[in-house]
Order: sequence, then structure tokens, then C-alpha cells
Amino acid sequence: MLLRIKSQNRQENISFPGAVCELPVYDLIVAGLGTAGVYAALTAARYGLRVLGIEKLNCCGGTGTAGDVHGYYFGTPGGIYEELDDKVREMEEAGYMPVVGLNPEAKKFICEQALVESGVEIHYESRVTGVLMEENTIRGLCWVENGEEKAALAKITLDCTGESGICEMIGCRMERGRAFDGQIQPYSVVQPEIINGLVEFYHYLDCGYMDALDAGEYAKACVNGACLPHYNPEDYSTRRILGISMLLGLREGRRIMGEETVELSDYFKDRVTDHPVFYAYSNLDNHGRDLAFESEGLQDWMVAASLWGINISVPVPLGSCIPQGYEGILAAGRNISIGHDIASCVRQRRDMQKCGEAVGCAAALAIQKGISVREVPYEELRERLLATGCLRETDAVGIWDIEDGKWYRSAWLDRAEDIYQGLKSHKPGIAIWSAGRIGGFVEQQLEEWLSDSDQNVARNSALALGILGNRKALPILRCMAEERDPYVPCTSRKYNQPRGLSAVYLLGRLKDSEAVGILERILETPEDDRGQEYRYDQFIRTKKEYGFQFFTHAAMALSRIRAAYPELEEEITGKLKEAMKSPFFESLLGDTAEDAIYIRVAAGNMRKFLK
Ligand SMILES: Cc1cc2nc3c(=O)[nH]c(=O)nc-3n(C[C@H](O)[C@H](O)[C@H](O)COP(=O)(O)OP(=O)(O)OC[C@H]3O[C@@H](n4cnc5c(N)ncnc54)[C@H](O)[C@@H]3O)c2cc1C
Repeated sequence: MLLRIKSQNRQENISFPGAVCELPVYDLIVAGLGTAGVYAALTAARYGLRVLGIEKLNCCGGTGTAGDVHGYYFGTPGGIYEELDDKVREMEEAGYMPVVGLNPEAKKFICEQALVESGVEIHYESRVTGVLMEENTIRGLCWVENGEEKAALAKITLDCTGESGICEMIGCRMERGRAFDGQIQPYSVVQPEIINGLVEFYHYLDCGYMDALDAGEYAKACVNGACLPHYNPEDYSTRRILGISMLLGLREGRRIMGEETVELSDYFKDRVTDHPVFYAYSNLDNHGRDLAFESEGLQDWMVAASLWGINISVPVPLGSCIPQGYEGILAAGRNISIGHDIASCVRQRRDMQKCGEAVGCAAALAIQKGISVREVPYEELRERLLATGCLRETDAVGIWDIEDGKWYRSAWLDRAEDIYQGLKSHKPGIAIWSAGRIGGFVEQQLEEWLSDSDQNVARNSALALGILGNRKALPILRCMAEERDPYVPCTSRKYNQPRGLSAVYLLGRLKDSEAVGILERILETPEDDRGQEYRYDQFIRTKKEYGFQFFTHAAMALSRIRAAYPELEEEITGKLKEAMKSPFFESLLGDTAEDAIYIRVAAGNMRKFLK
């Protein structure tokens, strides 16, 4: 047997030094007793498996407890987590400190109690340091506990470390971040505070970007984030800050490449799995505000149609929890095989708890039947998951929208008349997207509506045609970009995009060489809002941010046009270089306002990648 050890950025294979036959043997080892890991371990143990849980902290629950992210943001109900949450609420009613969401201390206790009662052997303050492997089969783990190296064998090992720490050690294929610059979503240093007798958890300022598996970056991120003025008020007399959370707030990290991958592009084409083990439910909650660097699919949704606030239900198959090419290992949590674009939806706590339950259940079935996890019969797994509510068929349906503070199930439109009325309204996003989905007969109508006397219809039709790749939209899009059309739709509850910005993005997407002059002028004067009444909302809050958005979108549009027209390469490259030496761009790089961290970091990345 071969022991593969990874220590800070170094990977080497050494033979296991001890007597393998003397190692303790478990059915299942769960690495990371966090949001997903707790429910994976609990489910497997309740099916009668001998389970070992290894957690580097001194408690379980991960980001939802030690990370102080104790509120739920969407996700679907059902599953065994509800049983534990009810017990937490009972403790709160019996006098535990009330919090927004669920009290993390009570949740730590309830989770631990449930694990112990079901027979899970917990090892806290134990950090996984190596993987026992026989060829491509994972046979167990090594970890350090109280300064001592330990090891154990298992039939199946689960990577529930959030960051794919175990899969990384075995050399599993990984993905991280977006295509443009590999960036993941911003991290946060979380700081709980008591306000009006209630523990609030809102202090998670987006602190920039970092790579959690790079020890140096991790350390710097902890210190830099915690040192931000936001977290260090001059006067503490009016604020009851409880400290900095034990876990850094990591929204995204390395994701395994699984047997199946859930991708946003497939979701858009209704190519979703027909064998889900749970549904994830949320909006595409991307915290990044440098949307110009995201994929075209994500920008179609967020920038062209302003659909940030629309919630979607995403079916997740077991295959996305099975690392390609390896036996005896599964992943659960935010590190499963999901593309970056849709990972901003498939990460909410309720759903990650369900992911843990589904994977724990699949592992139990595989072990009980003596088969590989790849051979687990879906019908049997489904029956078990339906029984606990982890899988609910009612979660399968459609998209969700908000009106007057209430969520309701919505649908894409399929009649030209409904699309026309939608385009005319101040909530045009659903109509824009519906028209883009249908294409065909509506495309012709959209072309006619370009000359509609109603400006909303004409301009929103241009956005829909832009998504469809129809170049007849170009004259209106150029006009909207030139004017920096300040109209902001009300499609989403926040993150709606000024229409001028949507137009700039689409000019690049359509590779419009005639728009080069307009785009270059935007680079020269990005903050010029033409004296128009601009409605600042939560996405763009200052004039600097306004300039940043126009600047980055114009630069990316030009770089797309440059790629399509070699004869324009020299001119556009010259303009981009000039723009990145401009006082405006320098001011982005030097912006010290903490709200503008994302601007500073994004500008730095842009300089690296847009040469
Ligand atoms: C700042 C922030 C705010 C968020 N807000 C919300 C929200 O409001 N609502 C919502 O529903 N979701 C929210 N989320 C998303 C959600 O909290 C996470 O996606 C989810 O908790 C991730 O679960 P996980 O099991 O993958 O990881 P985690 O819960 O982080 O669990 C990973 C566990 O593995 C352990 N571990 C890691 N490495 C090792 C090792 N080598 N050895 C042993 N143990 C190890 C860790 O200590 C941890 O306990 C937020 C996330 C962040 C970061």
C-alpha cells in the first residue's frame, strides 16, 4: 500500500511506514464535520455504518457554526437537518441567546449530540494530512491529532472539507474559479455582533480574493481582512462585537471534476439531470461585482437581462459527488462538481446539508450492497431520500420571482403578446430571457419591435436580440452605449444593470467592429455620466463604481472585438494599454476605500490579463 502525503504545496509518495493490518478499520471516514459532513456522517451512521469523523476545529457544523454564517439564505426544506434545527430552536426557546438564523453554539451541541448518539466516532482538532491509497482506490486517511500522527482504513472516504482538501491530495482533477482569471468569489472575514439583544451576522464584508489552499495567501487573507477599518471601529462603546469567527468565510474554492458536472449552460438549455439526489435553490448569488470578467452565459443572465434576483431550482446528481478516476471516495459540500457560474447558486447551507445527507445515504447503500458508489441503484437511493424529504419532487419546478416582498413561482413566457407586454414594463428581464430562449418566431417580432414607438420595447428588444446573437440590434445598442443609457430596470430586487452597461457588454459579445470608437471613448471618460439622473442602487453606489463598471465592460468588449478582427489588434491593444495608464485606472488601483476593495483587486487582475 502506498501512502501519499501532501504538505504545503509539496506532494510525494511514500510507503506507509507502519503495519497496515494494525490500523483501525471503519466503513466510512468523513473528513470535515462541517455543513455537509455532519449530515453525511449522521446519515451513514443511522444506516448502521461504523463511521469516523475527522474535524480540524474543536466543534462541528463548519461555516454554519464556527464560521458564524448562521442564517439560511434560500435552499430547500426537508431532510434530516430539519430535525436537528427543530432541536436547536427548542434550546433557543429554553433560553439560549436568540440570533438571526440558528444559534451556532446550540447547533454545535445538537449536531455533536446527534453524531455521538448515532455512534459516530469524532476526532476534533485533527487535521487530515495524507491519504492511504492502493493504486487509484482510497483506502483511508492519515491525520495529526494532539501532535501525533494517526491513520485509519475505510471502505469509503468522504471529502467534506469545503476546499476539496482530500481530493487535491490524491491528485483528482480540479477546477477553480472563472475562465478569465481563475478568480473565485470574494471571501469574507465574518464578525458577529450583538444588536438590540440579538446576534446579527451581517458583518461579512467582501474582503477580496484568495486561494485557501495556499498557506501564505490564507494567512495574509485572515490578517488583511480582519485589519480593515470596517472591523476596527474607533469607538467600541456602542458596539458589541463578539470577535472574529474561527473559520474564514470562503464562498468558493477548488471543485472536483466529477463523473457528472452541473453547468449553468446546460441548465439554460433545460439539459438537467433526470436522477437528482437533491435540489439546490437560490438566485445566482455571485458576490463578485466585476461582472465584466465573468462568462458570457452569466453576463447574458446578469448584465443583459438583470436576472440576478431570480431564483432557480437546480437538480444535482450523485455523479457530481464522485471524483473522476478514483474509487472509494465521494465529495459533499460546496466542492462538488459544479461549474463556477452555477456554484453561486449550489452552495447555500440548507442545500449543502442535504448534499451531505444524500452522499451519506449513497455511501451506506454502496457499502451495504458491497458495490462501488458508481453502481448504487438510483431508484433505491431516491426512495430513501424521498422518505426523509432530502429529495422533494415539488422542488423541481421552474423559476421564482419576487413581487411586493413575496416570492411566487414564475415561468418563462411563450406568447409574443406576453413578451411584448413584458418588454414594455419596468420588469423586462423575464421577457428578455424568454424571447432569447424561444428565438424562432419571436426573433422576427423582436426585429419589428426595434422601431416601436415605446422606448422600453425598442431597447429591451435590442437586448433580447443581442442575447440571440442577432446583429440587427447593433444600431440601437450603439446608441444606448453612446448615451450611456441610465435606465435601470426593476427586474431584480438588487443588482439590476443600467441599460447602457448591458448595451456595452452586448456590443462586445456581438463583436461589433463599428462600436470601437464608442467603446474607446468610454475608456477615455468612464466617469462621464452625461449629467443624467443616474439611480444609484446596491450594485453601483458611487460615481467611481459607475466609472469602474463602464470602464471594465468597455475594455472587455474591445478585447472581444480585437480577438475577432486581427486588423484591429494594434489599435485596440494600444488603446487598452493607454487606458490602463490613465489617471482613472491608476485611481482604481490605489483606491483605499474598503468598499472598493473589489475594484482594486479587479483592476490589478485586469492589468495582468488584458495585455
Ligand atoms: C461569508 C459567507 C456567507 C454566507 N452566507 C450564507 C447565508 O447567508 N445562507 C446560506 O445558506 N449560506 C451562506 N453561505 C454559504 C454556506 O455557508 C457554505 O456554502 C456552506 O456552509 C459550505 O458547506 P461545506 O460543508 O462545503 O463547508 P464547511 O461548512 O466550511 O465545512 C468544511 C469543514 O471541513 C473542515 N476541514 C477543512 N479542512 C480540513 C482538514 N484538512 N482536516 C479536517 N477538517 C477539515 C473545516 O474545519 C469545516 O468544519 C455563506 C458562505 C460564506 C463564506
